Amino acid sequence: MMLTQLADVARRTGYPVVEVKGWKTRGRPGEMLGVKTITCHHTANGGAPGVYPSLRVVRDGRKGLPGPLAQYGLGRDGTIFVIAAGRCNHAGVSRSSAYTNPYAIGIEAEAVGVPGTESDWPPVQMDAYARLCRALVEEFQAATVADVLGHKESCAPVGRKADPSFNMGAFRNKVFSVDLRKPIANQEVEVSLSPQDIEAIAAAVWSRAETLTATAKEALGTNSPTASMDTLLQFAPAVARLRREVDANDTARTKQIEAVKLQLDRIEAEQTEQRGVLDQTLTAVSPPPAEG
Ligand SMILES: [Zn+2]
Repeated sequence: MMLTQLADVARRTGYPVVEVKGWKTRGRPGEMLGVKTITCHHTANGGAPGVYPSLRVVRDGRKGLPGPLAQYGLGRDGTIFVIAAGRCNHAGVSRSSAYTNPYAIGIEAEAVGVPGTESDWPPVQMDAYARLCRALVEEFQAATVADVLGHKESCAPVGRKADPSFNMGAFRNKVFSVDLRKPIANQEVEVSLSPQDIEAIAAAVWSRAETLTATAKEALGTNSPTASMDTLLQFAPAVARLRREVDANDTARTKQIEAVKLQLDRIEAEQTEQRGVLDQTLTAVSPPPAEG
């Protein structure tokens, strides 16, 4: 079964829908056998900026986990990406067969996923998330609001997964109270990383490094700074990634400033042009100088 209605269902939310090329025929080998569960995930993107930087990985998969990884992607600004109509690789080992890939629609929402990350879950994204789940529950009669589950709830063993990083009980209440006939409120969202986000990510990296250092101390039975350094070096890819993200954030800000400057220039040019036209008009309508 290919769920080729997923784009139409997404449009019922009122949020922008992007149909990712080829979605209607995209899926894992093996069929969707029904829809009994809506599984909520987050991408754990490590702080990549933008609306939906995880699109490629959710569509194509990653090493050891072939894509597509979810039927839907959800951007930070509420944009819904329709990625696959077929079965997707998102549930893994689950507590019930009803929660497994053949029966569960996966939504991968863009988020850092480190608790306390300030840029995670802007209201516009949470609203879109709830409306999408509601639209799916209304479309697939076999699923109810109670079947909207976090990956952290559906996985086995419990605790294997931590996503999404918000309270699912409160979220289901929100899904329950959604009225799709009501238009969405106009909301704005800042999608670039804030300095606090960078700090949160840096803190997470640091605490992980500390844990690794402690593990090394335990393993090597030494407080040797060399051993600690070695452990830190094992963590170099994460540090390099953080650096790239900080740089990307800086670049994004610079670009924003440049865009505003360009706009200002354009407005100024327009004003100059208009002033010219006005001057010409005024000259044309002015009475000729009185003859003395
Ligand atoms: Zn997940």
